[in-house]
Amino acid sequence: MRGFTTKAVHAGEDPRETLHGDVVHPIHLSVTYWKRSVAEAEEGYVYSRTSNPTRDALEKKLAALENARYALAFSSGLAAEATVILALLREGDHIVAFDDLYGGTKRLFQRVMARFGIKVTYVDARDPGNIEKALTPATRMIWLETPTNPLLKLTDIRAAAEIASRAGAYLVVDNTFATPYFQRPLELGADIVVHSATKYLSGHSDLLAGAVMVNSSEVYEKLKYHQNAVGAVPPPLDSYLLMRSLKTLALRMEWHQHNAMKIAEHLESHPKVDRVIYPGLSTHPQHSLAKRQMTGYSGMLSFELKGGAGAAVRFVESLRIIALAESLGGVESLVEIPSLMTHASIPREERLKKGITDGLVRLSVGIEDLEDLIEDIEQALKKT
Ligand SMILES: *Cc1c(COP(=O)(O)O)cnc(C)c1O
Repeated sequence: MRGFTTKAVHAGEDPRETLHGDVVHPIHLSVTYWKRSVAEAEEGYVYSRTSNPTRDALEKKLAALENARYALAFSSGLAAEATVILALLREGDHIVAFDDLYGGTKRLFQRVMARFGIKVTYVDARDPGNIEKALTPATRMIWLETPTNPLLKLTDIRAAAEIASRAGAYLVVDNTFATPYFQRPLELGADIVVHSATKYLSGHSDLLAGAVMVNSSEVYEKLKYHQNAVGAVPPPLDSYLLMRSLKTLALRMEWHQHNAMKIAEHLESHPKVDRVIYPGLSTHPQHSLAKRQMTGYSGMLSFELKGGAGAAVRFVESLRIIALAESLGGVESLVEIPSLMTHASIPREERLKKGITDGLVRLSVGIEDLEDLIEDIEQALKKT
């Protein structure tokens, strides 16, 4: 199996390995497993937190899609991230992280991990030189998101991987925005990929899950131990649903990108729009890097309205098809204003310095018909 969609449909699922020849992998709800004898009590499946056949199938599929040797599934993206840190770092260790990380990741670093003596330095990782400069003898991990949220900034993963390997640090890449369909960080030298599978991987805004992919068996063993020891695992029903979603990942991502590209171009030529940020546009400052390390640009775009915050609020409240809601990556288009919603907790000065202006609007472009989305955007822009 080599093709992405062939793997998405078949990896982890083999009818020959099921009791009745099920073409679709069964959902195993039992939390415990009968044993023939005490001598065999610890063999095979023992308890569902440790391992479960449905989760195992999901993990095989997740690994196949990132072209990884191993994958582990978690109950949310943050559960995956917390387990990575708990498994691999200890008191006194230092992380160098992109300053434009998902807010929940920053909260995990600053409010939770800091209490256990783990320190973080944030840098503008668009320039990998800034990562290098922030290294200390205690640096054990470099943590990136590329593209970031909501400004869609990129880091050269290869360059970051070289810095990490010289420093003896793990390079972790949060691949939530690109998905393995458009970007595979492990192939570019990253050590660990994390995902909020709640977003594109599940793709239907109806389940929370997370994933970690690695190639090193040593790192995998540590993560596997902590997956069980910490216990933030996804339930069997959600594991099944996520597996079902992954089968159409390529189809959905193609359509997300198709719509996003057309909407980005439409907005770019609109008199009420100041600027559009989308890695697929030639006007994106890192477009050439995007072309080099990604095979597509996904469905996330941000843009700024000329009328500032007032116009942004009128715009999002006038939309009829595109829903005003946080989160992203689902089949339905979603819109939000980062300065007032997802990024409201960042002090205004810091926000503006980064480029998250009051009038910035973030769109998670869904798979609806393009004409309907553009018509919706047009009628809402008229009301700004
Ligand atoms: C949503 C998100 C997370 C957190 O994932 P949850 O599934 O909500 O816990 C982490 N990283 C990125 C980039 C995200 O968008």
